[in-house]
Amino acid sequence: MRVVVLGGAGFVGSHLVDRLLRRGDEVVAVDNFLTGKRQHRELNRGNPRYTFVEHDICQPIPVIGPLQAVFNLASPASPIDYARLPLETLDVGSLGTRNALDLARMASATLVHASTSEVYGDPLVHPQREDYFGNVNTLGPRACYDESKRFAEALITTYARVHGTRFQIARIFNTYGPRMRVDDGRVVPAFVTQALRGEDFTVFGDGSQTRSFCYVDDLVSGLLLLLEKGDQMPVNLGNPVEMTLVEFAEAVRAAVGKGGAVRSVRPLPENDPKQRRPDITRAKTLLGWQPRVALAEGLGPTVAYFREELGL
Ligand code: NAD
Ligand code: UDP
Repeated sequence: MRVVVLGGAGFVGSHLVDRLLRRGDEVVAVDNFLTGKRQHRELNRGNPRYTFVEHDICQPIPVIGPLQAVFNLASPASPIDYARLPLETLDVGSLGTRNALDLARMASATLVHASTSEVYGDPLVHPQREDYFGNVNTLGPRACYDESKRFAEALITTYARVHGTRFQIARIFNTYGPRMRVDDGRVVPAFVTQALRGEDFTVFGDGSQTRSFCYVDDLVSGLLLLLEKGDQMPVNLGNPVEMTLVEFAEAVRAAVGKGGAVRSVRPLPENDPKQRRPDITRAKTLLGWQPRVALAEGLGPTVAYFREELGL
């Protein structure tokens, strides 16, 4: 296949590019390095099936020739990234998604869009199934991301009704692994970095909020199966093993072999979801997918990556 990966220099995007190249596909990665890493562009330099285009997808996307799939992963994803880039986040979810759709339509390709568990907001239904409409504050500090992703889902489904463009929507839950930025601000790089430096774990709120952490290789497998087997209705992709943030800090301490105290350093940020766990029944039945990598296993290469990044 010939495949475009929008956001191909990002954390998830760079792993997806690697997997597609490994299975023999031709890949065009597109990224403007808004939150991605320039070094990810170099990972596959020299591979004749790999091309990189530095481009902001809020402008029409300059990729020509036949294509079978367009993966749209381009968007700030970390809460501290979208807090500092709120208008860019709204633009890429709206204008960027529109350009991704135009690219897919012109090439008769399938668009696979990275949506998020944030479409459920601070959920009142637990665990979250795809038919839950969510609980999002349209005016709050997370609205630039949550509503951009919700608008993208509305745009994609409406565009497909008008033009018949084929699409799949992945609602991705917290995913971690090597290649996240040290300063990305999400809890996995934050806690792993703190443990490696022997610092205290900076918990927001009392640490009783829950998350479910999926290893990036599992997510990439899910995205590829979604392209192959999806039914054009959103599918949750995430690990259903739920834990509190205090439990997560202890898991990181065990993986690193050290770490400071678990310390509440500030109140829970406004609209920070208090509980989150995917119901993955649809992913299991439709795609035959479920995560295979347990947290202790996935933290191994993640810790090794950050150790190297920090020069420790
Ligand atoms: P990331 O920030 O590492 O990667 C996003 C990439 O998109 C970056 O390389 C960035 O430079 C690029 N980008 C942003 N705006 C762009 C633009 N206008 N034009 C071109 N490129 C642009 O984040 P990630 O964790 O790899 O997330 C990838 C996708 O998955 C995002 O759409 C995110 O919303 C979604 N997602 C991720 C998670 C997770 O836990 N990692 C959870 C839910 C959803
Ligand atoms: N969090 C924390 N300490 C940190 C960073 C994050 O306690 O240094 C919390 C955050 O408030 C949230 C959870 O960890 O409750 C997950 O945050 P993250 O930014 O990784 O992703 P989110 O699920 O909020 O998008």
